Amino acid sequence: MPSADSLRAAIRDVHDFPKPGIVFKDITPVLADGPLFRDSISLLCEEAGGQAIDKVVGIDARGFIFAAAVADRLGAGFVPIRKKGKLPWNTRGLSYTLEYGENIVEIHEDAVSPGEKVLLVDDLLATGGTAAAAVELLDELQADLVCAAFLIELGFLNGRTRLGDHRIHSLIRYD
Ligand code: AMP
Repeated sequence: MPSADSLRAAIRDVHDFPKPGIVFKDITPVLADGPLFRDSISLLCEEAGGQAIDKVVGIDARGFIFAAAVADRLGAGFVPIRKKGKLPWNTRGLSYTLEYGENIVEIHEDAVSPGEKVLLVDDLLATGGTAAAAVELLDELQADLVCAAFLIELGFLNGRTRLGDHRIHSLIRYD
């Protein structure tokens, strides 16, 4: 199994983006490197713990990149959680705050059936607002959330405390 160290080495810190004071974790160097991107997907797939996953849910927009590849690898469906107004069918939505703003996320109301095994994937866990909204939407749809998996966790923001007792895992942690 690949190690997360090479992923960590590839992630680029961009200071003061998109606002002063934010250190943005740029994952595009991971995406641009074929073996590294494949390793990141392999490591995220481990979070299924060998369970048969029905749906991999990705969060708009960088989460889509990882979640779709994980879904393909696991033979699962892919479900997008999107920013308000982007999904065409009937939706459920929730507002939340993130490290540098406020937003509303939505999911199609029929995207996940009650009891389906779900892996939630996003690129980064910061304050946990985005992930907490996603988890709440999945709880409303009565999904069986196997794990919320992140490439990166900003541990000093304590985002995981907002995700209840769900299993949370990140490949790379910054404290
Ligand atoms: P939060 O809701 O605060 O946990 O923010 C998580 C979301 O915002 C993720 O979808 C990330 O893509 C994005 N995000 C927040 N902070 C950063 C950061 N420092 N670097 C890169 N992305 C971030």
